[in-house]
Amino acid sequence: MAKVTRTVLVTGAAGFIGSHACEALKAQGDLVIGFDNFNDYYDVAQKRANAKALEIAGIEIVEGDIRNADHLEQVFREYQPSIVVHLAAMAGVRASVDEPHYYFDVNLSGTLNLLEQAKAFDVKNFIFASTSSAYGLTKSRPFLESEAADQPLAPYPASKRCAELLGHAYWHSFKIPFTSLRFFTVFGPRNRPDMLPSIVMRSSDNGEPLSLYYRGGVHRDWTYVDDIVKGVVSASNRPLGYEIINLGRGSPVHIREFVHELGKLAGKQPEILETPMPPADVPITFASIEKAKTLLDYHPSTELKQGIRSFYEWYRKQPTH
Ligand code: NAD
Repeated sequence: MAKVTRTVLVTGAAGFIGSHACEALKAQGDLVIGFDNFNDYYDVAQKRANAKALEIAGIEIVEGDIRNADHLEQVFREYQPSIVVHLAAMAGVRASVDEPHYYFDVNLSGTLNLLEQAKAFDVKNFIFASTSSAYGLTKSRPFLESEAADQPLAPYPASKRCAELLGHAYWHSFKIPFTSLRFFTVFGPRNRPDMLPSIVMRSSDNGEPLSLYYRGGVHRDWTYVDDIVKGVVSASNRPLGYEIINLGRGSPVHIREFVHELGKLAGKQPEILETPMPPADVPITFASIEKAKTLLDYHPSTELKQGIRSFYEWYRKQPTH
């Protein structure tokens, strides 16, 4: 019997996590359509390079903006995706403080546009990329999905939490299965240049001081991108009704340890310029991954050092930074 191929629409396909997700979905036999607006939040050349790799692998990329409902309708009509993996977003916690309207337009209205198309075209499963920052200053260790997560510290996590609630409304009213995956500090090849690994490399290479709230006990639950993507693919294969699920490593690491490991590979430790903790930042992220283990058979397996090395090797191969 011929294998049934699903059509999966991946938004944010040219981005860091989206490009890996497209490859993993294609590898399991899905017909993958990528969607991205190639905005200039960071170097567009990096997104173009990601998209080119996808196109070489046989993945079609449609250029467009999730804020444009008419274009989305055309895309759904043409490709008839049965699964939506929605990773497109404006993703900077601190940047969202300066541009709250923009963040809500993309992250909330854009998600609404996609849910409307999912309703119109009978999508069977909708996977949404949410964030550990939705937990705000929770006192729980580890962070549990059962928490209210109703005290975000910046427009970015607020927009993601609102989109999760919207997903619930569409599950309730239209029975579109909606799984929100709360990613915890993802790192690896194709990392966003505004995230710590690339900042550390630039600082180490250029001899520029690295501004960090460092001495304090800042911990992050760094999670390697391949592990995250396994969770995304698994969620896409399982319509679960409405669920919120953490995807992390479940093992927070002091930021100093991460910087030091990367500094060792780079051959030079960056000079640290101690700064106050930004008000939108949280001191720790720490995922409970019990729910992901149970519902998604998710078992992150990449050791921190191994993941840092993979990031480093990719970074060194890049033409410019
Ligand atoms: P990224 O910026 O590399 O990828 C997002 C992509 O979405 C980009 O290619 C961008 O061009 C695209 N995009 C943005 N606005 C768009 C729009 N209006 N229309 C169409 N495309 C648009 O970021 P990433 O780190 O790969 O993040 C992917 C998802 O995971 C995001 O939803 C982000 O909020 C979430 N997330 C990431 C992390 C992390 O550690 N990287 C942590 C938590 C959550």
